[in-house]
Amino acid sequence: MSADALARLRVEPGRPARLAERDPRDTLGLEKADAKQRTTELRDRIDELQYRLYAEGTRAVLLVLQGMDASGKDGVIRRVFDGVNPQGVRVSSFKAPVGAELQHDYLWRIHAVLPPRGTIGVFNRSHYEDIVTVGVLGLAPEKVWKRRGAHVREFERLLTDEGTASVKVYLHVSKDEQRDRLQERVDDPEKRWKFRRGDLEVNERYDEYVAAYDAALTETSTDWAPWHVVPADRNWVKAYATAALLCETLERLDPELPDAPEGLPAHGRDENEA
Ligand code: AMP
Ligand code: MG
Repeated sequence: MSADALARLRVEPGRPARLAERDPRDTLGLEKADAKQRTTELRDRIDELQYRLYAEGTRAVLLVLQGMDASGKDGVIRRVFDGVNPQGVRVSSFKAPVGAELQHDYLWRIHAVLPPRGTIGVFNRSHYEDIVTVGVLGLAPEKVWKRRGAHVREFERLLTDEGTASVKVYLHVSKDEQRDRLQERVDDPEKRWKFRRGDLEVNERYDEYVAAYDAALTETSTDWAPWHVVPADRNWVKAYATAALLCETLERLDPELPDAPEGLPAHGRDENEA
C-alpha cells in the first residue's frame, strides 16, 4: 500500500473522523493475493524491528485495537503477529470491569499491563470502552464518560513522553457484515460458543455505536497518538493495513542495536563453524 493510502486512514488531529464517509469494504487498491504476500513480508520486518527494540531497551510500542463486536479484532491479532517472536509481544484483552478493577479509576487496569520497554503491547479493546461502550449503554452518567476524552489525550501524551509510542486502529465494519458475522455465531457450530444474548442488540444499535466512535475518535486523535480507521469488512485488508501501520511506527522509531559490551574477545567463534 502506498504511503498515500496509509495516510488516508489517519484521522487528522483536530478534524472530524467522518466514519459515515469511510467505506468498510475499501480494498485500498489492493488484490487479495498481493496483500497477503505483503502482510507476510511486513510480519518478518516487524519481527526484526522488535528484536532491535528489545536490544535497545529504552522504548515500547502499544497497538490499540478498537472496534465493535464482530469487527474482527482477534483475527487481526492472529494474522499480524503470526511468526513474530512471542517473547516480544504481549496481548491484553479487556472485558467489562470486575472486582478490583471497579475499585479503581478506569485507567488503573490499563496502566498495569502497558508494554515494558523493548516490547510490543497489543490491546484487544482498551480504555476507549470506558468512553464508547459506557456512553452507549449508559453505564455511567454522561458527565463522567464525557470528560474522559480529555484524560485519555493527556494519558497518551504521558506514554509518548515516557517512551511508549501508540498505534491506534479502529476496525470499521459495516452493519451488514457485522450482522452476517453475528448470524454465523448462531449457524456455525464452531462459533456458537461465542454467541452472547446482547449480540443482536449490538447490531440493532449499530448507528449509535458508530456515532459514539465518531465522536471519541475525533476527540482523541492527536499528533502524538493519532487514530487510523481501517476498513474491516475484508480480513486480508485489515490485517495488511494494521501490519503496515505498526511497521511504519517501528520504522520511524528506528531502534538501534547497542554497542557490543567491552571486553569482547578479538577472535570470536569461527564463522565457518556453524
Ligand atoms: P469480547 O471482546 O467479545 O470478549 O467482549 C468483551 C465485552 O466487554 C464487550 O462487550 C465490551 O464492550 C465489554 N467491555 C470491555 N471493557 C468494558 C468497559 N470498560 N466497560 C464496559 N464494557 C466493557
Ligand atoms: Mg467479541
